[in-house]
Amino acid sequence: MLELRPSCENCQKPLPPASTEARICSFECTFCASCVDDLLQNVCPNCGGGFTPRPIRPAASLARHPASVVVVHKPVDLEEQRKRIERWGGQDPAKR
Ligand SMILES: [Zn+2]
Ligand SMILES: [Zn+2]
Repeated sequence: MLELRPSCENCQKPLPPASTEARICSFECTFCASCVDDLLQNVCPNCGGGFTPRPIRPAASLARHPASVVVVHKPVDLEEQRKRIERWGGQDPAKR
């Protein structure tokens, strides 16, 4: 089950469960769409994988299985991210 983390790991933009701006990697590292598109260029700073839009959990299910309230705040090291993008940017995540 996805944790549905409450905010962008980098910029802390709130990403409530119904947000269409939430993006996750296969480990559920969670960022907002603009961080993924502009800053990360679809390269996860933690695992090197790509991102996908986070599915929206219907309200009825959310009542029984609430979203996480644990904030993960790990601002991206821009220099390290530049190297990751050099290595993986523009590559299909399946081929990284
Ligand atoms: Zn962000
Ligand atoms: Zn990741």
